[in-house]
Amino acid sequence: MFDTHELGRRPGAMQRLSRSVEAPADLGVEVIGVPAGATVELDLRLESVVEGVLVTGTARAPLAGECVRCLEPLEQELEVDFQEMFSYPDADSRLRQAEPEEDTEEETFFVEDGLFDLEPVLRDAVVLALPLRPVCREDCPGLCSECGARLAEEPDHQHHDAVDIRWAALQGLAGTNQDGEKDDVSGPEPGADEKQEK
Ligand SMILES: [Zn+2]
Ligand SMILES: [Zn+2]
Repeated sequence: MFDTHELGRRPGAMQRLSRSVEAPADLGVEVIGVPAGATVELDLRLESVVEGVLVTGTARAPLAGECVRCLEPLEQELEVDFQEMFSYPDADSRLRQAEPEEDTEEETFFVEDGLFDLEPVLRDAVVLALPLRPVCREDCPGLCSECGARLAEEPDHQHHDAVDIRWAALQGLAGTNQDGEKDDVSGPEPGADEKQEK
């Protein structure tokens, strides 16, 4: 909860504040998120406007999750910007009388007794900013599709009896642009070695 009493209700007033808060539980999605209790650093700018308080801010927090390719745990830093209007309940009732409520997807947030709750706003901003497919590193080779071995630990890993089949499959795919994962299991491309030797 943040207090707006110091800011006051005079339109145009502005206040900056920084605060560290503990991350609530479930701040994230299944594969990656901010660990519960981790420190979230908030830099906020509160602006008093006629109908409420406009809050603009940046949140920084550690992320913990799992690489979607090799399933190793990974850690990242998240930085996300957000902006939200917290309306005064009385200002909002005037608005509602003016235009009857429609089924908008916009959620309305309120300042109540001079306080506003940033958590739902922070949660939405963080979840939107999370990587959809977090990887431990951009070129993570993932797991062997045959046996599940971690290819990062065994660069030369291959199954000899399966190589020919795999090359045939890759040639069949030539021209179709895959997401990159198929290429990852095949090791260096032919030609990559020649370049290195020069
Ligand atoms: Zn990985
Ligand atoms: Zn294998």
